[in-house]
Amino acid sequence: MLIQSVEQLIGHTPLIDLQIDVPNHSHIYAKLEMFNPGGSIKDRLGQYLIQDGIDKGKINATTTIIEPTAGNTGIGVALAAQQHHLPSILVVPEKFSYEKQTLMKALGAKLINTPSEDGIKGAIKKARELEAQTPNSYVPMQFENPANPAAYYHTLAPELIEDLGQPITAFVAGAGSGGTFAGIAQYLKEQNPDTKAIVVEPEGSILNGGPAHAHRTEGIGVEFIPPFFDKVTIDETMTIPDADAFAQVRKMAAEQGLFIGSSSGAALAASLKLAESLPENSRIVTVFPDSSERYMSEHVYEV
Ligand code: PMP
Repeated sequence: MLIQSVEQLIGHTPLIDLQIDVPNHSHIYAKLEMFNPGGSIKDRLGQYLIQDGIDKGKINATTTIIEPTAGNTGIGVALAAQQHHLPSILVVPEKFSYEKQTLMKALGAKLINTPSEDGIKGAIKKARELEAQTPNSYVPMQFENPANPAAYYHTLAPELIEDLGQPITAFVAGAGSGGTFAGIAQYLKEQNPDTKAIVVEPEGSILNGGPAHAHRTEGIGVEFIPPFFDKVTIDETMTIPDADAFAQVRKMAAEQGLFIGSSSGAALAASLKLAESLPENSRIVTVFPDSSERYMSEHVYEV
């Protein structure tokens, strides 16, 4: 394969039929998003958000892109901004992984850290402040921009249908901004109203009504209900403890040769649990957003 730019490597990731024991002889298929060039599902979003801003006339040749992010979106946005020769400033709560923050800087982005205890809301506030102070700046704002779910509705979701070529019983995905889940769930339900959509969160996230607190599972978990959820039917919300997510992270490396991040581990733990209540031979499709390699500093493989 001869390519001219890294952007050509975004999307069309493999869907793996996991060779693991699943209850009721069902199958779990996982989209391996770590194979995007920036190492995560968020490369799709970065590319889409920047293109959307250009198409809508909000970004010109000298616009500074500013975005609050847990990290992977920052890498995706920094990559897309670099491809368009645009400066980027990313606002990241300091708790997020050293590897992700280092990669953003390596791509040429400027990083602003906000206190961990202020959560993503603190990063959003800071991004808005920077926007007010920076002439000709644009904040794509993944947490409320309809281009976020649209990025997955138009790219990843059709790929899933094409990759599998058979009806999908259930779709399982974690939620941070909620864009991945909402965009894909909407598309899959339009294609097949029988497909169930299950959203996954760690303990400490508020979707199931539990109290907000810190968690180790990185990239998912919400402090407010994503606005994108208004437009999609959620059949079930599964809350996965960190320990269950990390157990799957270790198991995938040890038994399948797959280096998955903790949000992937949570998605897999939820898919396995879900299979217990689904009919025999169900096809469960999920997404593995990134790789464990960007969490080595957080000792992902050490109990
Ligand atoms: N997993 C990881 C590792 C992520 O970085 C993110 C994005 N924060 C997600 C899952 C959740 O994706 P979304 O924001 O689309 O809900």
